[in-house]
Amino acid sequence: MNSIADNLGTVTRRIQKATEAAGRPDGAVGLLAVTKTHPSAAIREAAAAGQYRFGENYLQEALTKMDDLADLPHLEWHFIGPIQSNKTRDIAVRFDWVHSVERLKIARRLSDQRPDTMAPLRICLQVNIDREASKSGADPDEAPALARDVAALPNLELTGLMAIPDPAQSASSLQDSFRRLARLLASIREQVSSGPAPQTLSMGMSGDLETAIAEGATLVRVGSALFGTRG
Ligand SMILES: *Cc1c(COP(=O)(O)O)cnc(C)c1O
Repeated sequence: MNSIADNLGTVTRRIQKATEAAGRPDGAVGLLAVTKTHPSAAIREAAAAGQYRFGENYLQEALTKMDDLADLPHLEWHFIGPIQSNKTRDIAVRFDWVHSVERLKIARRLSDQRPDTMAPLRICLQVNIDREASKSGADPDEAPALARDVAALPNLELTGLMAIPDPAQSASSLQDSFRRLARLLASIREQVSSGPAPQTLSMGMSGDLETAIAEGATLVRVGSALFGTRG
């Protein structure tokens, strides 16, 4: 098996190539390393190879790893999993970003519980872009109103949108899903006047990051291409 450092090199080159092919500036697309189910040692190895943004799906698992890695400076933690309302406090205090906000109630709790002494918690609204029955995320039609309400909360910064398109669709439908998320962000940018303009499109994973980058992704969330398949 390749080392994590080798995989990081490969994924970084994939991102650079896709960014260039899309005619976008070098550095326009960031890499979020998704480490759910992988041990702290894997994060340590990736950090030693220069990676600093990490995404976790399960709160308890994330908190344990954060404690293990407290000696590493400058790691940026992103919460990307489903959020239960009784778990918001630790998310508000321990994370830098949350990609999976789909309801105003959760956003309000995160804002109330984010300490005033910390930078605003960066929020991407998760959108159920293909309106799948079983998938998390706000309905695309409801996202603009949710975005306006979230942008007005004091300890949050509405940073952008996140989606996980239906993986079972054809390549062209997948591309269309990414394109619709990009359009939705553009229309939200026009409608939301409070706070900095939301710029982040968190879309694209190990198998489809090239397509997502072609459609404007600014942050790809990559797990298995870096750390291997999850057990
Ligand atoms: C697991 C996960 C990823 C990474 O998926 P890979 O296919 O392993 O790259 C990205 N985003 C979310 C929300 C995830 O849960």
